[in-house]
Amino acid sequence: MSEFAYQSPISPGRSWYEDSCGKRPTYAPLDGDTTCDVVIVGGGFCGLSAALSLAETGTKVVLIDTHRFGDGASGRNGGQMGSGQRAGVIELEKELGFERSKALWDMAENAKLSLFDIAKRYGFDFDYQPGQLTPLHKQRFEAEAQEEVDILNGRYGYDKIEYFDQNAMASALGSQHYFGGTRDKGTGHIHPMKYVIGFAAAAAKAGAVLHENTEALSINHNRKIIVTTKNGIITADKCLLALNGYHNDLRPELASRVLPIQSFIGATVPLEHNTTVLPAGEAVDDSRFVVRYFRKSKDNRLLFGGREAYGKSTPSDIERAIRRQIAEIYPDLADVEMTHAWGGNVAITMPRMPYVRELETGFWTAGGFSGHGVMMSNYTGRMIAEHFLGKSEEIRLLKELKIPQFPGGAIFRNPLKLLALTWYAMLDRI
Ligand SMILES: Cc1cc2nc3c(=O)[nH]c(=O)nc-3n(C[C@H](O)[C@H](O)[C@H](O)COP(=O)(O)OP(=O)(O)OC[C@H]3O[C@@H](n4cnc5c(N)ncnc54)[C@H](O)[C@@H]3O)c2cc1C
Repeated sequence: MSEFAYQSPISPGRSWYEDSCGKRPTYAPLDGDTTCDVVIVGGGFCGLSAALSLAETGTKVVLIDTHRFGDGASGRNGGQMGSGQRAGVIELEKELGFERSKALWDMAENAKLSLFDIAKRYGFDFDYQPGQLTPLHKQRFEAEAQEEVDILNGRYGYDKIEYFDQNAMASALGSQHYFGGTRDKGTGHIHPMKYVIGFAAAAAKAGAVLHENTEALSINHNRKIIVTTKNGIITADKCLLALNGYHNDLRPELASRVLPIQSFIGATVPLEHNTTVLPAGEAVDDSRFVVRYFRKSKDNRLLFGGREAYGKSTPSDIERAIRRQIAEIYPDLADVEMTHAWGGNVAITMPRMPYVRELETGFWTAGGFSGHGVMMSNYTGRMIAEHFLGKSEEIRLLKELKIPQFPGGAIFRNPLKLLALTWYAMLDRI
C-alpha cells in the first residue's frame, strides 16, 4: 500500500492507480459565494479539459467535484485510448454516411493529439504504452473485422491498423483463447490517475479555480446560472455538466438517456519478467458486448477488467469474478495473487455514442462515453470550451447525434438494464 493510500468513496475497492500515482494534490472545498464566466460541475477528464482550455484564454472558470478529481471513472478506468469512436465505422457509415463518420474519426484522431499535446506542454508523464489488440471471441466476426481494417486503411487513410489471423493473435496475446482480430499501432494505454493529476495541476496553473469535496446540490438557470453547494453559491454565465456515469439523475434528460453501469478491474502482483502474457505490451479489448479489457502496467502487473458481478460487489466478489475471466484466457494465471479489485460507473447510451447537448442557452451537458471516454470525454470538454470561446464548432458533430431515450425512460431503465445486460452476457457466451 502506498504512503498516500486513499480510496475513492464511490469505488467498491481501492484501485491500483491510487496506490501508484504518487502524491495526489488536494484542492480546497468552496467556502463562500463566488461568480465566474463558466462553472463546470464534475472533475473527471471532461470537466478538467474544459477548465484548462477556458483558463488558458483568461476566462474565469470554476470547477467543482463532489469528491476528489478523478474519483469518478477518469482516475480508475482501463486506461485504453482506442481509435475512432465507440461505435465502429461500418456501423457509423450505415447510420450517418461516410462524410460524418469520417469527421467523427478525424475528431477522435484530434483527441489523441490533444491528449499528448497537453501532457507535453505542461510536462507531466502518464505512463503511455503503445498498441491495442481487439481479439474476436467468435469466428463469425472475422469477416467484418477484416472489412473494417480495409475501410480504415482505404478511405479513412489510417494505415496503423492491421488484421491478425488466429495464429498471429495467439502470439500477440500469449493465449489461444481467441480467433483473429486487429492490432492498432496508432493508439495505446495510459495510467489514467497520473493523467488526472497532471491535468488538474495544468488547469490550476492556467488560472482555473478548482474545488474538490464540493457537491452541486441544485442548479437553477434564469438570467444567470446558479449552482448551490453546501458552503457557497456559484453564479455564472455558462455551465457544463460533466457527470457521465455519476449524474445521479440531477437532470431528467440524463436519467432517461445516459445509463450508468458498473465495470470492474482487478490487478495482479507483477508477473514474471519473462511472462508470455502480452509480450509486446499492447492493451486488449475484446469483441464481447460485455467487453473484457486487459493490459500490463509499466511494472508488469496484469490489469484485467470486465463485468460479471451483477449483484453486490465487494472487492472479494470482484476478485473472484475477474480471476475466473483471467483463468479462461490465461490458465497458468488461475492462482495468481491479486492485490487490488475495484470498480466504477461507465455511462452508456442506446447507440453507444455520447450524449452531448445544450440543454438551455449556455448550459451544456456531456456524458455517455461508454468504454471510450479516455480520449473522447477529454476532447469533448475541450470542444465545448472552444464553442464557449467562439473558437470552433467541432462539437456540433456530437451535439447533432440522435441519442434516443432508453425504453421505459427513467423509471424502468434499471430493471430493464439488468435484463439487457444478462441477455448480452448470455449471448457473449453462446
Ligand atoms: C472501470 C472502468 C473502466 C473503463 N475503461 C475505459 C477504457 O479502458 N478506455 C476508455 O476510453 N474508457 C474507459 N472507461 C470510461 C471512461 O473512464 C469514462 O468515459 C471517462 O472517464 C468519463 O469522464 P468524465 O469526465 O465524463 O466522467 P467522470 O470521470 O466519471 O467524472 C464525473 C465526475 O462528476 C462528479 N459529480 C457527480 N455529481 C456531482 C455533483 N452533483 N456535483 C459535483 N460533482 C459531481 C463525480 O464525483 C465525478 O468525479 C472506463 C470506465 C470505468 C468505470
